[in-house]
Amino acid sequence: MTSTPNLDSLYQEIILDHYKNPHGQGLREPFDAEVHHVNPTCGDEITLRVHLADRMVADVSYTSLGCSISQASASVLNDLVVGKSVQDGLAVLDQFHAMMQGKGQVVPDEDVLEDGIAFAGVAQFPARVKCALLSWMAFKDAVLQAEEV
Ligand code: ZN
Repeated sequence: MTSTPNLDSLYQEIILDHYKNPHGQGLREPFDAEVHHVNPTCGDEITLRVHLADRMVADVSYTSLGCSISQASASVLNDLVVGKSVQDGLAVLDQFHAMMQGKGQVVPDEDVLEDGIAFAGVAQFPARVKCALLSWMAFKDAVLQAEEV
């Protein structure tokens, strides 16, 4: 596949769209665990709740502050994990994490990551990788806490 010159602007548009219209934003009940994560290098913050039911991710609700990348990433996280089994949600997280740690060399699977592929370009900028991963690490932390209950 040859890359098109407009790919970066397409990715930018997806990120801006999620930033302006975040999916699933707000803190909801019921929930099984709540975590607060910060990315001090950029000033991003997220409070995130997970609600698990029958080994499914029934809800991920959150409020976030910070840059467009961190906020758009939380919206994409909500899209990609709510309604999946906990196992599948964590598998998506692993792929997103691998892409973000791949320095732009990991080719993302669009079938799995959907709008998440828009962050592939961000992976080339080490300072922004933590912005994109903030909500995902908060999700992982919350799931682990919820499963201990
Ligand atoms: Zn940030």
